[in-house]
Amino acid sequence: MNKKGKIIVLSAPSGCGKSTIINSILGSGELDLRFSVSATNRAPRAGEEDGVNYHFITTEQFRDAIAADEFVEWEQVYPGRYYGTLRRELKDAAERGENTILDIDVKGAMAVKKQFGDDALLIFIMPPSIEDLRNRLVKRGTDTPQVIEERVGKAEYELSFADNFDLRIVNDDLPVAVAATESAISAFIK
Ligand code: 5GP
Repeated sequence: MNKKGKIIVLSAPSGCGKSTIINSILGSGELDLRFSVSATNRAPRAGEEDGVNYHFITTEQFRDAIAADEFVEWEQVYPGRYYGTLRRELKDAAERGENTILDIDVKGAMAVKKQFGDDALLIFIMPPSIEDLRNRLVKRGTDTPQVIEERVGKAEYELSFADNFDLRIVNDDLPVAVAATESAISAFIK
C-alpha cells in the first residue's frame, strides 16, 4: 500500500514569525514537505504570485467554490476577506504520499483537525507574551496605534485556542523556534 501523505498545520497570531518559520523550513529542504496554496479574494501584495502564495480569485469565484463544496475549510479571517483550503490541494498530495504544510488561521486549524484527526499535526506558534507582541508590532512600524491594538486584541482571541493544538512553540528566539518546529514535523511524518 502507498504511504498516505500527512498534514501539518501552522497557526499563529499576526507578528509571531509564522511565515518566517514556514519559509525557513521549506527553504532548507530538510523535510519532504509541500505548501498548500490557499484561495483568497484579497489582492496580491508586492512580490506575491498567483498559484504560489495563494490562488487569487474574485469574491464571486470564492462564493462559487463554496457552493461547489471545493473547500476543506474556509473562513472570513478579516471583514470581507475570505481564505480557504482547497480540497484538491490536499487530495492530490495525499494520493501521491506527499506531506503538506498549511498556513491557516486558528478556526481553520480546528476544522482540519476535525476532518483529518491523527493524520494532521496542529502547531501553534506563540509570542512570549502579549506585551512582547505589542512591542514587536510597534518596532515594526508598519501599523498605526489603532491597528496595533486591533491586532493585539485579535491575538488575545487567537491565543485562547492554543490549548486545542497538538503542540505550542514559543517564538522567543527564531532559530530555536525553527529547530523545534522542524523536529516536531520530522517526528510526525516519519
Ligand atoms: P495574509 O492575508 O496575511 O496572507 O493571511 C491572513 C491570515 O489568513 C493568516 O492568519 C493566514 O494563516 C490565514 N489563512 C491563509 N490561508 C488560509 C486558509 O486557507 N484558511 C484559513 N482558515 N485561514 C487562512
